[in-house]
Amino acid sequence: MIVDYHMHLRRPGDGVEEIDHTVEAAERFVEVAAERGVDEIGFTEHVYYFRQTKELWDHPYYADRCVYDLDAYVEAVLEAKRRGLPVKLGLEVDYVPGREHETQDILGPYPWDFLLGSVHTIEGHHVDGAPGEGLWKHFPVEEVWRRYFIALRGAARSGLFDVLSHPDLVKLFGQRPSPDAVFLHHDETADAIEAAGGLAIEVSTAGLRKPVGELYPDRGLLEACHARGIPVTTASDAHLPEDVGRDLDQAVELMRSAGYETVTVFDGRKARQEPVG
Ligand SMILES: [Zn+2]
Ligand SMILES: [Zn+2]
Repeated sequence: MIVDYHMHLRRPGDGVEEIDHTVEAAERFVEVAAERGVDEIGFTEHVYYFRQTKELWDHPYYADRCVYDLDAYVEAVLEAKRRGLPVKLGLEVDYVPGREHETQDILGPYPWDFLLGSVHTIEGHHVDGAPGEGLWKHFPVEEVWRRYFIALRGAARSGLFDVLSHPDLVKLFGQRPSPDAVFLHHDETADAIEAAGGLAIEVSTAGLRKPVGELYPDRGLLEACHARGIPVTTASDAHLPEDVGRDLDQAVELMRSAGYETVTVFDGRKARQEPVG
């Protein structure tokens, strides 16, 4: 089985992608998935696009984007399911330390198949905005990495999520601390994910399209997770239909080489393992 469990419902606009939370948009993603041999796709819109989540955000980047209706998004994906399409209902949720209860209260009522936990910002500063900007403007590389992985371990421990997405996103601009420091971050993070229990990590091809030009996560982190029995999903993080399933063969190759033979499939937040491929 091949799954792509991370993508954002958009339609191509005039040079920019436009949010399109409709069943017609979902159908366009499903068509590409079928052409590329992807058996099942999961839609995972960013949590901060929905007005129902406004109370979670202090940062203007997020607060400005809270204009779409979460119910309409959920209904579009559920309608795609009713039409028999191989889709799953998910959401990409930014982890906000200290706001776990509010996050749970807002998202609890919806029939999710899985929730992705992501760290994109720390205390309002972007990790993934631009090199030298956001968190990178305030701290040296070692400290950005340290803070990123502390936040990711917090996301693991929060109990809010089913999958940690792009787990070593912090490498996206190709900046890394010493190999020893990298090893320690990977090791401590795999320990925290194992201790949290019931969490998978995502093998994402999005990093191939970033300056670093690599899959997320590094082989070291993936092997540390495999050694601890932590399962995986595969994902493109597509923002347009043309990117659905993109480079998933490389993701499958990496996970196999790290020892994985199965991929995680979700139904109503229950995980099971299926042979990958
Ligand atoms: Zn993300
Ligand atoms: Zn995403």
